Amino acid sequence: METTTNAEPIDRRPPALALIIDGEAVTRTSGGHHAHISPMTGEAQAEIPLAGVAEIDAAVDAAHRAFAGWRATPGAERRRCLLKLADLIEQHAAEFGRLAAIECGIPVAVGEGYAPGACADWIRYYAGWADKLEGQLLSTFPAEDFAYVAPEPYGVIGLIITWNGPLVSLGMKVPAALAAGNSVVIKPSEMAPFVPALFGRLAKLAGFPDGVVNVVPGGPEAGARLIEHPLVEKISFTGGPATARRILHACADLLKPTVMELGGKAANIIFDDVDPDAAAAQAVYHSLGVLSGQGCAIPTRVVVQNGIYDALIERMVALAEAMKVGDPFERDTAIGPLINEAAAVRVTGLIETAKAGGAMRLLTGGGRVGGVLAGGAYVAPTLFADVDPADPLAQNEIFGPVLTIHRFRDEAEAIAIANATRYGLGGYLHTNDLRRAHQVAAAMRTGNVFVNTAKTLDPAMPFGGTGISGFGREGGKAGIEEFVRHKAVGIARG
Ligand code: NAD
Repeated sequence: METTTNAEPIDRRPPALALIIDGEAVTRTSGGHHAHISPMTGEAQAEIPLAGVAEIDAAVDAAHRAFAGWRATPGAERRRCLLKLADLIEQHAAEFGRLAAIECGIPVAVGEGYAPGACADWIRYYAGWADKLEGQLLSTFPAEDFAYVAPEPYGVIGLIITWNGPLVSLGMKVPAALAAGNSVVIKPSEMAPFVPALFGRLAKLAGFPDGVVNVVPGGPEAGARLIEHPLVEKISFTGGPATARRILHACADLLKPTVMELGGKAANIIFDDVDPDAAAAQAVYHSLGVLSGQGCAIPTRVVVQNGIYDALIERMVALAEAMKVGDPFERDTAIGPLINEAAAVRVTGLIETAKAGGAMRLLTGGGRVGGVLAGGAYVAPTLFADVDPADPLAQNEIFGPVLTIHRFRDEAEAIAIANATRYGLGGYLHTNDLRRAHQVAAAMRTGNVFVNTAKTLDPAMPFGGTGISGFGREGGKAGIEEFVRHKAVGIARG
């Protein structure tokens, strides 16, 4: 895997950006430009050409033309292209890390050290599915008639993703759609266009025919056009619930199917029979240390049993204070800036409201980071203890390095706290009691539960939400099933 060392300075200049339509790099667009602001400095660093209606239409037309050939391509060849893409992504790990730091302020330890490998894993997993989707033969008795059921790709899939972790989002959506024989039009956020553009260029190098993979960064108007385009058969969306509602209204009018991967407010239940050092490390690193708290399935509500409460929060504070907040290009940085100034203002506003309410205990953090980082969108890792589970801070997604800590007495109370939000994406629990692990996992109203682990993104495991965290699944057989329809054919033998 290509990596950089701390000794080598990383080029901080953004590359020129091109859309990828029908295998061509497109730089002249009709959607205007987006002034891309560096999360590190707050200064404009690039002019992003945005897809307008004309580019979305051109991408969808290209995907539609490419679909018939791609659908007819043998599974072994689809797999070959996917495996090649996975290799290329790993070979470009350092460039992906650089771009993720430029566009979102993601520390290179994550953008280079984690995301490319995770994306490649997902691609290889679905490469294996490319010739393993099976139908079904149905016979009737007496065997006069019979029927078969065959999986078919939809056609053109519209993929709309948000800015946090675009490489992982692409890995979770694109290979499953392609392995099943669909072509795709990817609309990344204008705030994170560089990583998806490189992904699109590598798809061409991997040998996908022109038009099978199109990448058209743009704003909400581009997304809206992709949704309403009559040749787009299905939408798979990753983003926030507010945008999801708008998309669902549009899709309702068009009777267009969707997959919705939305936000989360995961509880991390820690029973008092566990090792406090290990539980504290997971509670802190898997939340604050993942995309600086800007993750959908990370455990942001730490729900701790009485007997271990004080020992755990003491350890959590020590670990959080030891995490380096700083320049995402430095390899030992754990927490970079938030995506932009508006996000930092919003998050510190929530912190100030919580402090002013006086009902919870601020353990550490609680505001912006000053000194040489004052110009960027940096927020200090912030821990609040004794938080009422009903408080807005514990009810709404914060999307920043802020954790709420809640106390519970028994299993029933822990489950009640965990289930007391409208979200239902991830759930975590730590215990050494096997009966309790099964029972609490079954009771948590979430799409995923992780017991004594934080390994959330295994491509073989279906990932997705309940409640306002959305519906549909990415990962596993369920993930590729989202991109096929089942055609049933009945045949008379007579
Ligand atoms: P958002 O919902 O504002 O935007 C997401 C995408 O939708 C962008 O590409 C945007 O341009 C596009 N868009 C906006 N308006 C549109 C419209 N009317 N029609 C079509 N497209 C439109 O994204 P956000 O709220 O900033 O993203 C953060 C959210 O994403 C959080 O809630 C986070 O939890 C969630 N998320 C979920 C997952 C998951 O897998 N479940 C992963 C990452 C992020």
